[in-house]
Amino acid sequence: PQKKVAEWKYSTCNYCSTGCAIEIGLGDDGKVVTSRGHAGADVNRGKLCIKGLLEHELFESPGRGTQPLMRDKFHHAFQPASWDQAMDKTADKIKEIQTKYGRDAFAVVSTGQLLTEEFYTLGKLVRGCIGTNNYDGNTTLCMASAVSGYKRSFGADGPPGCYGDFEHTECLMAFGSNLPEQHPIIYWRLKEAKEKRNFPLIVVDPRVTMLAQFADIHLPITPGTDCVLINSMLHVIFKEGLEDRAYLEAHTNNLSELEALVLDKRYDPIHAQHECGIDEDRIRTVARLYANAGAAMSIWTMGINQSTHGSDGVANINNLNLCTGNIGIPGGTSLSITGQCNAMGTREWSSCSGLPGYRVLENAEQRQEIADFWGIDPEFFPKKRGLTETDIFPAIETGEIKGLWLVATNPMTSMPNTPRIRKAMEKLEFLVVQDCYEDVETNQYSHVYLPASVWAEKEGCHTNTERRVNLVRNALPSYADSKPDFWIFNQMAKRFDNGHVIHFPDTPEGAFEEMKTLSVGSDRTLDISGMSYDKIEQARGIQWPYRASEEGRKGQQGLRGDPRLYTDGKFQTPNGKANLICVDFVNNNEQPCDEYPFWLNSGRVVEHFHTRTRTGKIGNCNKYSPTPYMEMNPDAAEELGIQHQQYVRLTSRRGDAVVMVQLTHRVARNAVFIPFHFHDCVNRLTLGLLDPYSRQPAFKQCSARIEKV
Ligand code: SF4
Repeated sequence: PQKKVAEWKYSTCNYCSTGCAIEIGLGDDGKVVTSRGHAGADVNRGKLCIKGLLEHELFESPGRGTQPLMRDKFHHAFQPASWDQAMDKTADKIKEIQTKYGRDAFAVVSTGQLLTEEFYTLGKLVRGCIGTNNYDGNTTLCMASAVSGYKRSFGADGPPGCYGDFEHTECLMAFGSNLPEQHPIIYWRLKEAKEKRNFPLIVVDPRVTMLAQFADIHLPITPGTDCVLINSMLHVIFKEGLEDRAYLEAHTNNLSELEALVLDKRYDPIHAQHECGIDEDRIRTVARLYANAGAAMSIWTMGINQSTHGSDGVANINNLNLCTGNIGIPGGTSLSITGQCNAMGTREWSSCSGLPGYRVLENAEQRQEIADFWGIDPEFFPKKRGLTETDIFPAIETGEIKGLWLVATNPMTSMPNTPRIRKAMEKLEFLVVQDCYEDVETNQYSHVYLPASVWAEKEGCHTNTERRVNLVRNALPSYADSKPDFWIFNQMAKRFDNGHVIHFPDTPEGAFEEMKTLSVGSDRTLDISGMSYDKIEQARGIQWPYRASEEGRKGQQGLRGDPRLYTDGKFQTPNGKANLICVDFVNNNEQPCDEYPFWLNSGRVVEHFHTRTRTGKIGNCNKYSPTPYMEMNPDAAEELGIQHQQYVRLTSRRGDAVVMVQLTHRVARNAVFIPFHFHDCVNRLTLGLLDPYSRQPAFKQCSARIEKV
C-alpha cells in the first residue's frame, strides 16, 4: 500500500542537465516514499520525466556499496576495511607512485554527477595537495567540444541563452539533439512554445529521431558533415546579403576571412549537397528561414560534440548566430544542451582543465590569485593543462601513468573501444574507485573501493544547461557505511600535509561561501556572489551571473540572475569582440566501405542514464528498457536475410558485439543505431579518434558490418 508523505524535501534531479526541481516525499518513519516535480519551479513547472519520477527508488537499490573494500591484486577477493584503513592505503599508494615515478604518474578522473561544492573541494585537493596535473572529468566524453567552441568564439565558456528563449524565437535549428529522449522536460518546454506560436523547427540528424518526427524540416545529414552544411548556409546568407552586417562590423573579428572561406565554390549548395547529403534547395530554404527570422536560435547535443569536428561544429554554429545577429537577444542564441546534471558545475569549479571559477593554469595572475586564497605557493601549480580523460588511458598503456582514482565514472562501459580500456586497467599499479555502487563494471579492476553516498543523501548545488544554480537538500542519512564525496575529499586532504597552509571548510555551504568569494569580479560572467542556499531554494534556482552588489544586479528582478549573456555585444576576448572561426571541412571520418558497409551511431533512450549504474537498478526504468538492441532499416535487413528480433554480430575495426535487431525506418539503409548505456555492447566497437581541440571522441561516426549468428 502507498505510504503517506509526512514531509517534502527540496532537491534537484541528479540525472540530465535540464535541472528539474524535485520534492522528495518522506514517510513518518523518515524513509523515502515518493518524488514529484516542484510546481513552483520555472524550469519544469511540476513535471518530471520517467527517470525523475522514479529517482527516489535509487536510495536502497541493489548494488549499493556498504563499506570500504581493499585487496592487493585486482584478481584477488576484496576484504572489508575501515574508512581509515582504505583512506590511509589510498594516500600511501598515491605518495608511493608519485615519489617513484613523478607527481603526474597518478591521475584523477571525476564526473559531471557530483555536487558543485564537491567538485570545488576535489579540485582543491588535486591541485593544491596531491599536485598531479593529470586530472580530468568524464565531461570530456560529452561537453568538452561545447566548452572549447564557446571559448574559441566568445573568449569564455558558458551557454549564452536560456529555455525562455523558446518563448521568443522565430526559428529553431536543432543539431544532433533528440530532446524527447535525452532531455524530455526541455522538449516539453519547446513543444509548448511551438504550439503557441508555430515557429519553424529544423532538425539536423542522420536518424529520424523523435524530435525529427516533430520537426517542420528534417535534414538527414551525412554523419560528421555539419560544418559543410553550416558553411553552405553561410554561403547563401552572404551571397544573398542576408547577414546582419552592422552587428558583424561592430562586434566580431575575422569577418573578411570567414566571408572569403564560405563564399568559396566548395560551399555553394550545388557542390556542398554532395558532401553533406542535403539537397541544394533545402540548404537555401533553411538558410533563408534562419536569416530572415526576427530571432533564431540553435541548440545541439552529442550529434555535434562527439566528433573529430566537435569543437569546429560548435564554433560554426556560433558563426551562424553571429552572422545573423542572434546572440544575446530574446529567442536568438547558441544554446548547448548539456549532458549531465552538473556538467556545468564541473566546468565552472572543478579545476579539471585549470583552476576554479573558469581560471586557467596558463595565466600567472590567476594562478597567483588562487594560490593566495588557498595559502599555498603558486609554483606548486603546473603552468599548463595536463592530460584529458581520453589521453589518460593511452598514457596508462605507455606506462606514463601508474595509478588512477576514478570518481563516479565507469570507463569500462562509457569510453570508446572498451577492449582497449580493459587492457589499460589491467596495467595499473593502483586503482581506487569511488562510487555509490559496488557492482559498477570498472570496480572489477580496483585495489580500493570507497562507497559514496548518493544524490540527496548529500547537500550542495548543481548548475543546469541555462546556467541556473539549484540546490540538493540532504533528505536522508547515507546508506549503510557510505559517505558523502565531500567528506571523502576532506578526509583525504588531511593525509596530504605538503607543508602548505590550506583550509578545507567542514560543510558544503562553507565551500559554497569560498566559491562565492572567488567568483566576485566585475568582468567575470560567472559571478555567484549574491546567492545563498536559502535564496536558491526560495527562487527554485538562480541563473548566474547573480552579483552581491545592487549595482551589479541592475536590470535583474528579484531573485533572478541574467537569463542571457552578451546582451551588450561585449565578449570575453582581448578586444571585446567575438571571433568568427574559419572552419574549412577536412573529411577525416571513418567511412562505410566494402568491408564495413554501415554507419554506426549511438545515443540515449529515455529510460536510462549513462551506464545504467542507477537506472539499470530501478524497477520500471529497467523493465521498459531491459536489453540493448540495434535499429536497422528493413530494406537492408531483407537484403541480408535478417528478421526482426533476430540476434546478429556487429563488427568494427575495434571489436564486435552480439545484439538483437529492431527493424525501423528511423535509420537509413546504410546506417544502424544502438543505445550506448549497456556494458560490453556498442562501445566495444566505437572509434576513439579525438577532436584536436576538445579531445572528445568521435563516438557517432564509424563503420561496421553485420553478420548472422
Ligand atoms: Fe531529471 Fe532530466 Fe528527467 Fe528532468 S528531464 S526529471 S532533470 S532526467
